[in-house]
Amino acid sequence: MACSSLYRSAPMGPANQPDYVNAVMAVETALAPLALLDALQALETAFGRVRHGERWGPRTLDLDILLYGSEILATDRLTVPHPGLAEREFVLYPLQEIAPDLNIPGLGPLADLVRRCPRRGLSVIEEA
Ligand code: ATP
Ligand code: CA
Ligand code: CA
Repeated sequence: MACSSLYRSAPMGPANQPDYVNAVMAVETALAPLALLDALQALETAFGRVRHGERWGPRTLDLDILLYGSEILATDRLTVPHPGLAEREFVLYPLQEIAPDLNIPGLGPLADLVRRCPRRGLSVIEEA
């Protein structure tokens, strides 16, 4: 339904890895949340992602579910809204680009979260 610009951000976690490219998109789907996660993980695998033990290490593609409508989910495999959303400049700024008036379930207005989150090194590398 909508796609943000592409953003370059400094890596989270291990620093000895290249910068990341991040973007946020809105999709309409008939898939239930866990089926959507399955589909996203199948796409990651199709794009050559191999899961190693290390958390937040370099990867070819990482597709996370940030929100699922206004739902709040907490299961073994899936937490929605995404638990890192409120602290991550590379999530909040692209999300604001495509949905400036959004209310994040359990967290309040997106605009307030953005105001509290410094941009750090975040820069636009390709306008939407
Ligand atoms: P982070 O979740 O902090 O961004 P990551 O994306 O590097 O870290 P992964 O190794 O890609 O973490 O995923 C680990 C597991 O997180 C997945 O197998 C999935 O079951 C679980 N998970 C929980 N909530 C979500 C979510 N909202 N979106 C995607 N995966 C999630
Ligand atoms: Ca992630
Ligand atoms: Ca992930």
